[in-house]
Amino acid sequence: MISQDQARNIALVCLDVDGTLTDNGVYIGRVATPEGAAVELKRFDIADGLGIKMLQRAGIEVAFVSARESVATAMRAEELGVKYVYNSRSIPKVVALQELTSALGIPLEQVAFVGDDLADIPVLKRVGWPVAPANAAPEVKALAKVQLARRGGDGAVREFVELVLRASGEWDNLVAQYVADAEASGVPAS
Ligand SMILES: [Mg+2]
Repeated sequence: MISQDQARNIALVCLDVDGTLTDNGVYIGRVATPEGAAVELKRFDIADGLGIKMLQRAGIEVAFVSARESVATAMRAEELGVKYVYNSRSIPKVVALQELTSALGIPLEQVAFVGDDLADIPVLKRVGWPVAPANAAPEVKALAKVQLARRGGDGAVREFVELVLRASGEWDNLVAQYVADAEASGVPAS
C-alpha cells in the first residue's frame, strides 16, 4: 500500500481529533459545585499515543488539526509533546495546513492527514497522503489513498503509524530503542 520510498518521504502527520483520535463522543457537563463550571471530556486511545511518540522518534512532525475548541485536545497534545495544535473554530483546517506546512517548509506531498468527516475533505484533497479511519464518511473514504481497518479512538492512528514505520523499515529499531530506554529508566516495559 505504501512503498518504502513513499513512507520515508512522509515528513508531517496531521491528525484530526474528533472521530480520529477519539470515538467522536464528547462528554458535556458541569462540575458538581455551586459555581458549576462547564466541563468537556474526550476519551483518547493510549496505543495511539505511543504510536505518536514513535513518529516523533522517527523524526516525523505531528500536528493535531481540529476545528473544535477543546481543553482536552490541548491537554492530550501537551502530554504527548505534540507542538503543533490547531483547535480553534476561527481557523479553517485548510488555513491551519497552509500555515503549518509553510512554517515547517514541508511540501504538501510529504504530508499525511488522517480525518474522518466532511470537514476534512478540503485538507484531504490537498495532501500527498489522505487517510481515512474505518468510521470515516463515504465521501472521505472515496478520497483516501489509505483506508484503515480500525476506527477513530480505537487504534486507527496507531494502525497508520505502524503502516508507515514498518513500510519505511524503521519500526523494529524504534521498538528496540523504546524497550531499551524503558529498561534503562528502571520502569518495566509493558
Ligand atoms: Mg473528525
